[in-house]
Amino acid sequence: MTLAPSKLDPKTAAFDETLPSGLGFTHVVKKGQVFRIVDLEGNQAVDTLFYNADDPTERYSAVDTIREQTNIYLTTGSRLLSTERRVLMTIVADTCGRHDTLGGACAAESNQVRYAIEKKYMHNCRDTFLLTLATRCATMGKRDLTANINFFMNVPVTPEGGLKFDDGVSGPGRYVEMRAEMDVRVLISNCPQLNNPCNAYNPTPIRLLVWNS
Ligand SMILES: [Zn+2]
Repeated sequence: MTLAPSKLDPKTAAFDETLPSGLGFTHVVKKGQVFRIVDLEGNQAVDTLFYNADDPTERYSAVDTIREQTNIYLTTGSRLLSTERRVLMTIVADTCGRHDTLGGACAAESNQVRYAIEKKYMHNCRDTFLLTLATRCATMGKRDLTANINFFMNVPVTPEGGLKFDDGVSGPGRYVEMRAEMDVRVLISNCPQLNNPCNAYNPTPIRLLVWNS
C-alpha cells in the first residue's frame, strides 16, 4: 500500500457531485484534469471503466495494467493502461491504499449463480452501466463493457491463487485521485450489491470531483 494524500482543496474543484449508491455516472475528464472519487461513508465498491473519449474502442485494459506494473492491486503511482497500452489515467493520490482489478462487476446472472435464483431481479452494476450509457452516451452499449476496476474494494488473492471477496479496507472519507493523460470518458456504477461484503452489505454514496489542470 502507498498512502499519499492530495494537496487539492475541494473548494477549488470545477466539478463536484455526490452519487448515491445504485446509480451510474459518466463524464469526460479532459487531459490534465484531476479526478477524485471519495468513499464518503467507507467500504463502498465503485465499479469503474475508462475509455479514450475520442475513440471508445480504446479502453481500460486490466491485463495490460496488471502486467506492466507487476501487481494486481492499484494505488498511488499506478498507471491505468488502455488496450493500446497508452496511459489513460495515473493515480496521483490515494488514502485507501488498495483497489481491485479482478473482481469484476455484479450482474443479474452472477447474482443468481453465486447467491440464489431469486436474486436475478436485484439491482446490479452491469445493468447500471447499460442504463447509464443508454441515457447519457447512446453511441456506446453492451459491447463496450469489459473488465472493470473496483475502487475501494478488497479482493485479496490467497497464496494458492484463489480470489476472496472480503470486508473492505477503506473508511469514511478515504479517496483516490487520478490525472487524465488523455481525454478520458469515465463510466461508474456505484455498486448496490447486498449479497457480499464488498460494501459491508450497506451501499453508500460517493463524491466525485474534478479539478482543472
Ligand atoms: Zn456491483
